[in-house]
Amino acid sequence: MQVGVPSANSPQCASPRPSGPPYAAGFRAGVPWGHEVGCRASRLGVAAAGIGSVGVKPATMPTLSGHHYRTGLPVRVTWEGESVRRVDAVAAGACADGVQIAPALLDIQLNGYAGLDFSRPDGLERIAAQLAALGTARFCPTVVTGSPEAMAGTLRTLAAALAADGGLRAAVPGIHLEGPFISGLDGPRGAHPAAWVRDPDWDTFQRLQEAARGAIRLVTLAPERPGAEAFTARATAAGVRVAIGHTAADAGAIERAVGAGARLSTHLGNGLAARIDRHANPLWPQLARAELYASFIADGHHLPAPALVAMMRAKGEERCILVSDAVAQAGLPPGRYTGIGGDLVDVGADGRVTLAGTPYLAGSGFHLARCVAHAARVATGLPAAVEMASLHPARLMSVAPGGLEPGAAAHLWAFRLGGDGEPQTQATVRGGRVVYGAPGGS
Ligand SMILES: [Zn+2]
Repeated sequence: MQVGVPSANSPQCASPRPSGPPYAAGFRAGVPWGHEVGCRASRLGVAAAGIGSVGVKPATMPTLSGHHYRTGLPVRVTWEGESVRRVDAVAAGACADGVQIAPALLDIQLNGYAGLDFSRPDGLERIAAQLAALGTARFCPTVVTGSPEAMAGTLRTLAAALAADGGLRAAVPGIHLEGPFISGLDGPRGAHPAAWVRDPDWDTFQRLQEAARGAIRLVTLAPERPGAEAFTARATAAGVRVAIGHTAADAGAIERAVGAGARLSTHLGNGLAARIDRHANPLWPQLARAELYASFIADGHHLPAPALVAMMRAKGEERCILVSDAVAQAGLPPGRYTGIGGDLVDVGADGRVTLAGTPYLAGSGFHLARCVAHAARVATGLPAAVEMASLHPARLMSVAPGGLEPGAAAHLWAFRLGGDGEPQTQATVRGGRVVYGAPGGS
């Protein structure tokens, strides 16, 4: 674990919050990571003003009680259907010690978990269940570069699972296609197989989108590849987010991508050459463009803490997104396993996933809540880290964020910190449905 910056001096990024969203108010003050949350009886500004009769007895509505993740005050959140109805201050002792309530996590980059991937028919359902127990209510299954047949096959499998289960559709804001339109160079290409990377091509994408029954909502590509600009414009017009990643692009290509509609840098700081020019490299222009969100793999292995902190400060808190980029071996006990393409990978005691017998990373071994914990410790404090893994990705994907305000979507996460500082999920609510744990009574 790389922990280099004391949380007591957590930096606060200076970018202003956008006006308008219901989650905009009251977010600046927060409880720093590791702060002992105690029950403090106090009035809360988000009480149920304006909630009228909804035709259902309040006692029948499910609730969660705990400490508001940002204020630390004890609250009871009541929801009806898919929406939060009330957030009430409660007396000290009304909620279990140390339990916090926050928006449920949304992971826009996840390749698998606990030995499962999305190529198997039951993969999506089982991974969703695993993630629910870890506070991630929603996620974008990520399909990486492979043969056209293999990619289409996985997309068909995902589409069939989504068509069969409305609960899964609620869990998946869209599929993330990472490749095949990425750099073919060693380094930027990462672990994607060189044989199958190619220039962006709309017909190829359309075939993949048809296999996915239209569920692809995010595409990561390298903007320096011929055709990338036109592809980006066309995808954006079709409602598909375009991300820059696995790239050796110069500033001009990045500028053109942003102009054509690209709005995200995928796992910034990874998926680029190991050695780069001090000025002419893909990092500076991506950090400089305010239109681009940036996702980060904050697992303590992919980015040294100073690099993570510096990039987050440059990008601004509101443009930062945390992703797990977890591979199928994530969450497995330490040992040696078969990874992508049949390569052997080692899972270390610290969760690090490497090519067997080498120090080279073969993906992330952390789920998103652990990345939140790491980012909170080394960079941001808890409230901002939670929002980077919930509200911000929802905004990027134009889906309803969860929230602790009346009217917000009921995507909720109740957790407490274990003795090791890792979040232990008590309950996860997805669109008003308890998908892990049990709600409290009211
Ligand atoms: Zn990647």
